[in-house]
Amino acid sequence: MGLSKTGWLCAGFALSLAVAACGPAQKDNAKRGPAAVDTARLVGADDEPGNWMSYGRTYGEQHYSPLTKISADNVKNLGLAWYFDLDTNRGQEATPIVVDGVMYISTAWSKVKALDAKTGKLMWEFDPQVPGEWGVKACCDVVNRGVAVWKGKVYVGTIDGRLIAIDAANGKQIWSVVTTDQKQPYTITGAPRVVKDKVIIGNGGAEYGVRGYVSAYDAATGNMAWRFYTVPGDPAKGFENKAMEMAAKTWTGEWWKLGGGGTAWDAIVYDPETDYLYIGVGNGSPWNQRQRSPQGGDNLFLSSIVALKAETGEYVWHYQTTPGESWDYTAVQPIVLADLTIDGAPRKVLMQAPKNGFFYVIDRTNGKLISAKPIQNITWATGVDMKTGRPIENPAARYATTGKQWDAMPGPLGAHSWQPMAFSPKTGLMYIPTNETGFSYIPDPNYKPEPMGFNVGLDFGAGSMPQDPKIKAAALSGVAGPLVAWDPVAQKAVWKVPHSTPNNGGVLATAGGLVFQGNVDGEFAAYRDTDGQKLWGAPTQSPAMSGSMTYEIDGEQYVAVLTGWGGAWALSPGEPSLKGGKRRNIGRVLVYKIGGKAALPPAPPVVELPLTPPAETATEAQVAEGKSLYAKYCSVCHGDAVVSGGTLPDLRYSAAVPTETFKAIVLDGALKTTGMVSFAPVLDLPKLDSIRGYIIRRAHETKAELANNAAAKVSPTTAAR
Ligand code: CA
Repeated sequence: MGLSKTGWLCAGFALSLAVAACGPAQKDNAKRGPAAVDTARLVGADDEPGNWMSYGRTYGEQHYSPLTKISADNVKNLGLAWYFDLDTNRGQEATPIVVDGVMYISTAWSKVKALDAKTGKLMWEFDPQVPGEWGVKACCDVVNRGVAVWKGKVYVGTIDGRLIAIDAANGKQIWSVVTTDQKQPYTITGAPRVVKDKVIIGNGGAEYGVRGYVSAYDAATGNMAWRFYTVPGDPAKGFENKAMEMAAKTWTGEWWKLGGGGTAWDAIVYDPETDYLYIGVGNGSPWNQRQRSPQGGDNLFLSSIVALKAETGEYVWHYQTTPGESWDYTAVQPIVLADLTIDGAPRKVLMQAPKNGFFYVIDRTNGKLISAKPIQNITWATGVDMKTGRPIENPAARYATTGKQWDAMPGPLGAHSWQPMAFSPKTGLMYIPTNETGFSYIPDPNYKPEPMGFNVGLDFGAGSMPQDPKIKAAALSGVAGPLVAWDPVAQKAVWKVPHSTPNNGGVLATAGGLVFQGNVDGEFAAYRDTDGQKLWGAPTQSPAMSGSMTYEIDGEQYVAVLTGWGGAWALSPGEPSLKGGKRRNIGRVLVYKIGGKAALPPAPPVVELPLTPPAETATEAQVAEGKSLYAKYCSVCHGDAVVSGGTLPDLRYSAAVPTETFKAIVLDGALKTTGMVSFAPVLDLPKLDSIRGYIIRRAHETKAELANNAAAKVSPTTAAR
């Protein structure tokens, strides 16, 4: 056996890092202290496969584990080892971290917990006390995708824009920095990454009108080391760097007044071999390019993968997946690094399946496109021109230019979103949790920036789901979310596992020949990595969207996943988010092992609220105005056409809507601590009456529909924090 990567690094690092524990001593967990993760351990993560020390386990973020004790042969004996009930019932999107027997998770509202990874016993918890009012600024729920750990500290980004360092020993805050202008609608939902004693964090908010960036902070002190903006600012104020000067040449008009977008809210991946950070950049703000860059242009670095020098944040190269982005086709999706043999030659690649539906293989040393193929039927482009690296667009997709409705596949949820995909070096396959969803982009010719709500330049009311049962059935029939095993060299699917709905769980691949994935229908399952045959499944009572992971303690292998219903798909789509039926929302950590004998408490019944709308008193004009206002200010959280996906209240069933309480909530902010702030800045009493009239109309329509077809039942719910 040759010198391991860790051994080599230890030899190199021992001179400069007196504290680095190398060799056999590294196995002595007790001496190391909690969360004693450093460069040597992360680069050498394969030498201690029992731990899962960073978001994707290794810096390359393959979401792959070399552990083999749970295998295709014995996975049928997998049982629940322990579970832990969370104190929030909103979307749970975190992939747990496990270091030396301790599990660190983040939950909705940016809370952090440390659990004994063997027993599930709570060791400490940290609540950043995010003001509930911030919930309204989160397009896609108050979720958090994970923490980072480094040299005894745990780092979390919060919904209100803070980056916080917590003492891994006791859960006490060590430092906290505000990383965003809190007067603007920035949010943080992504997991921080730590590289060479710097904590890297991005942010979200491109639907509300912000300018995206990533920042690096000193891991020990919280002092900012560098910041890289992803889109240019006002040229009159001077550019931050040459990259911004270059990017500004691809914009027109006065984009900076609308923010521009380009938020980096998920993928931040470090490559120790090139010493580059790869940043996934988000969509334009607003989506409608006519509104933000009237004469067109590529609008760098929207929807791009940008390579930066890790030490300084200096621009190195970029690859833009969707020039002139107009469809919320972000390229923030997970980035995976691997070494592949392509056309007989070894290549250092990065791979991404962004929202736009293509699977990209890119040379990560220089940003050159190696190949790109669609992972599903897409309508906006027919392929990628390998000479230019640019998509071959369908001209009709440019609704901002044509001014006409564009019915697209995929829609804003994307062919793939934040859910981790997994790459197995053993099979050479990428396992992708895909979404099949369409959307009608209808430009709003009267668009003007809104002080509250979505700022995307589309008419959501015009695209709202109609009552026609045939149109509804057709719309729902195209909605799905298969798990796809993709050969990145041949650029083709090898097998698929169908799921009836999108937004299923992130994927874990293991050397035990297994692919694990939770799903929205409430099951956590294991599939054979070569052919997708289902080998095991356990009911989870509630959807499992998060990325699963695995670890080993005292010779036993465990697999962990979080449950909890929420996120983008549970909030805004309305009717389609209920495909497959109503769902319980239980925030919980589930951990499995071979022979596990723990049992969940009985699943609580799904609450049925009575649908008893009052008689209609609103005029047709009021209902029409209410529909438009609802689409603009309410639908993003409460669902298209007043159909809630089940995380936030379904207003058709709300007892408050017909009463004075509705005003207390919507105009006076009575429920602001849940995220339902006052909309008085944009609504007044007559407008409130119109919205009320529209909601009551929708309740009556639903009542009639239920009377006609019991199967069309929907999922009312009560507010939860
Ligand atoms: Ca977006």
